[in-house]
Amino acid sequence: MNLSYWEYKTWLSNIDFTIVGSGIVGLSCALRLRVEHPKAKILVLEKGVLPQGASTKNAGFACFGSISEILSDLKHHTEEEVSKLVQKRWNGITLLRKNLGDKNIDFKQYGGHELFLKNHQELYHNCLNKLDYVNQLLDPIFDGKAFEIQKNSFNFNNIQESYITNIFEAQLDTGQMMATLLHLVQKNGITVLNSVSVQDFTENKDALDVVTDQFEFQTKKLLIATNGFASQLIHQEVKPARAQVLVTKPIKNLPIRGTFHLDEGYYYFRNIENRILLGGGRNLDFKEEETTSLGETDVIQNQLKKMLKEIILPHTVFEIDRKWSGIMGLGNQKQPIVKQISNHVYCGIRLGGMGVAIGSLVGNELADLI
Ligand SMILES: Cc1cc2nc3c(=O)[nH]c(=O)nc-3n(C[C@H](O)[C@H](O)[C@H](O)COP(=O)(O)OP(=O)(O)OC[C@H]3O[C@@H](n4cnc5c(N)ncnc54)[C@H](O)[C@@H]3O)c2cc1C
Repeated sequence: MNLSYWEYKTWLSNIDFTIVGSGIVGLSCALRLRVEHPKAKILVLEKGVLPQGASTKNAGFACFGSISEILSDLKHHTEEEVSKLVQKRWNGITLLRKNLGDKNIDFKQYGGHELFLKNHQELYHNCLNKLDYVNQLLDPIFDGKAFEIQKNSFNFNNIQESYITNIFEAQLDTGQMMATLLHLVQKNGITVLNSVSVQDFTENKDALDVVTDQFEFQTKKLLIATNGFASQLIHQEVKPARAQVLVTKPIKNLPIRGTFHLDEGYYYFRNIENRILLGGGRNLDFKEEETTSLGETDVIQNQLKKMLKEIILPHTVFEIDRKWSGIMGLGNQKQPIVKQISNHVYCGIRLGGMGVAIGSLVGNELADLI
């Protein structure tokens, strides 16, 4: 496509910073760059009509790690490393709330509950036995006991009699979060162009030539925030991981409130007002789900429906309203990759399953590399 003189001059000349990806990291990075460089020309390029990775597809858990996840992490990391990870999630959520406001993201601190299946007796008792130890370890972060035992008051089926609850965990409205973030970015004079896929770039002495599927242009710096898609542009240790979700139609008098983790985090569900959102099941076919293609499979969707019927809503008639998927970026470590990769190129990627919690911080860290 040939751009007109006006189009090129107005939108694509003299660009100081180009961010690839308009997920939570890309948009948070753009905002931070605006604070640090008030006069800079900042451009965000997004291949989707809407953001098309994980930030608009996720479950909206503002979570810090369930007890079994923390204990599992402690097998491979030191206490200090695990504490730092949890601290980062806490700081990230605090920053998100400060930047966007609780009302704008519909932040609700109902608590997050880990449920243990009936046949996961050993895991359940191990978590109960280590409750005080984990609370003590994380006390400096939460300034109090984060985990407590709560009875199965929502009458889920086929699970142990109690949950282990993190009282600080919360839920938010993913759509409102991203819409508020996008609005702030645009209000700050940052251009966001959708349906533009960055395909390649070449680095010169003082700038980069960027090739997209729509046009070519130059930028002084390139910041890559494409998470699970990162290896399509740069060579970094990040693999795509598709995550599938479904949501029910409204259910009359639904009593369930909160966020829930099940089967060591392989499944997660929450209420959205009077609906249930349920996701997970990647462990049923890790290989098939290691993809950047959006889509749903029978094997996982059927398992999600089975869990709704047998565990979550055993005595309630429900209908499925929607199903969808999103692409996460994973690696062999839980830390994201935030670094300069050449003279003018930087990346903030590999957010794992915790990008709602840490995305704002990672966006800031990415901008601060410059
Ligand atoms: C189903 C699901 C449930 C989740 N639940 C939770 C949760 O409850 N709590 C939590 O903390 N985290 C959750 N996560 C993880 C969280 O959503 C992610 O970690 C976070 O959104 C990552 O943000 P990001 O900005 O790094 O990446 P993304 O949101 O993936 O953004 C990357 C963007 O880059 C764009 N892009 C890619 N390549 C190009 C290109 N070449 N040119 C232009 N644009 C490009 C993509 O379209 C995408 O919009 C979940 C993820 C999924 C998929």
